[in-house]
Amino acid sequence: MKLLVIGCGGVATVAIHKCCENPIFSEICIASRTESKCVDLADKLRDKTKARLTTATVDADDFRSLTALMNEFQPHTVLNVALPYQDLTIMDACLECGANYVDTANFEPEDTDDPAWRAAYEKRCHEEGFTAYFDYSWQWSYFDRFKKKGLTALLGTGFDPGVTQVFTAYAQKHYFDEIHYIDILDCNGGDHGYPFATNFNPEINLREVSANGSYWENGRWVETKPMEIKREYNFAGVGKKDMYLLHHEEIESLAKNIPCVKRIRFFMTFGQSYLTHMNCLQNVGMLSTTPINFEGQEIVPIKFLKALLPDPASLGPRTVGKTNIGCIFKGIKDGKERTLYIYNVCDHQACYRETGSQAISYTTGVPAMIGTAMVVSGLWKQPGVFNVEEFDPDPYMEALNKYGLPWVIDENPTLVD
Ligand code: NDP
Repeated sequence: MKLLVIGCGGVATVAIHKCCENPIFSEICIASRTESKCVDLADKLRDKTKARLTTATVDADDFRSLTALMNEFQPHTVLNVALPYQDLTIMDACLECGANYVDTANFEPEDTDDPAWRAAYEKRCHEEGFTAYFDYSWQWSYFDRFKKKGLTALLGTGFDPGVTQVFTAYAQKHYFDEIHYIDILDCNGGDHGYPFATNFNPEINLREVSANGSYWENGRWVETKPMEIKREYNFAGVGKKDMYLLHHEEIESLAKNIPCVKRIRFFMTFGQSYLTHMNCLQNVGMLSTTPINFEGQEIVPIKFLKALLPDPASLGPRTVGKTNIGCIFKGIKDGKERTLYIYNVCDHQACYRETGSQAISYTTGVPAMIGTAMVVSGLWKQPGVFNVEEFDPDPYMEALNKYGLPWVIDENPTLVD
């Protein structure tokens, strides 16, 4: 089947490596803003795969640029591993050209001062009670249009969002009658040796981490100040780490799709150096997305900061240590209380040796390929717009073991208070 991959950054590099290993993809076109990166990657992989690899330039903010490429290449499915800013334009182009759609992050606007978007955002903050810039409403609203065309859109098949929801669907299918509590724990025990750098796109990462936290409890959102809730956890393969409660997009879809759930929280580990740098940058205005005039030129502070920070793709050779990402569930089976922890441990250097990327890109890129393969193979083919927990988790869980992200089940985990 023909696959069009849009974007050629850290996550895309791993996803394309893995697509090249999976014979279901017979032809892969790698398209991005900077075609030279696509050409370099295709040249590296051509001898290692039976898939036919081609490259193209595309501006994924431009509907016409996308449809011109899709009409020429005629993809069965498009994997969007560019940025969340492009989600809606790529979905529009898929509808126009009759392609299925897959991504790893939900829509977020690049310009958060746009008046039309602001009005919808403020209405949502008021009605729903969380203030993150991203939410699923924009993409869920495409359901009828995808259904009518007989096309599938699969949202958020990275690790988190992505695998964390597949773990939830698997726990629900095999271990619980009712899941009441879900704690998603994302631990990066890696060290890249810089005082401050982000492991994936700095703009997206810093916007997420500096925002208010929130969790879902008893049918509503509870919002916290950034980093207000802190816990310590002893992670297998990593050791003890401080972790902080964040808002995260899969909480929104799990709250909708997991019946009986009472509380869903998301925690991510951060070191003190990262937090001190981030607070300082925020206090001086460097995380702002509002353009300022500097010596006659308009600049967006966070974009300028991105230009100064190390490129996440360059962290691979320097990063040592492991990640541990998973979910702790508490609920009921056959009338009895039960707890369960499903997690994956991934080694930064092993990922780098295999694909040239560190574990953050690896743990996102592998599930991006698996989700795409689920749609392309027809195992997860249903017309409409879906999150990963809405499909049968079993073939996805098998593929995680096969393609480099084996998971572990602990039936007696330490819980987070
Ligand atoms: P990078 O910044 O490394 O790569 C982004 C790529 O998109 C670059 O190749 C860039 O091109 C390309 N791009 C950006 N704008 C356009 C455009 N207008 N048209 C065409 N191409 C464009 O990001 P990552 O690889 O780190 O992240 C990719 C995605 O994965 C993001 O959406 C991120 O949020 C998501 N993610 C999801 C996770 C999960 O677990 N679910 C975890 C981590 C990331 P150029 O080279 O020209 O800049």
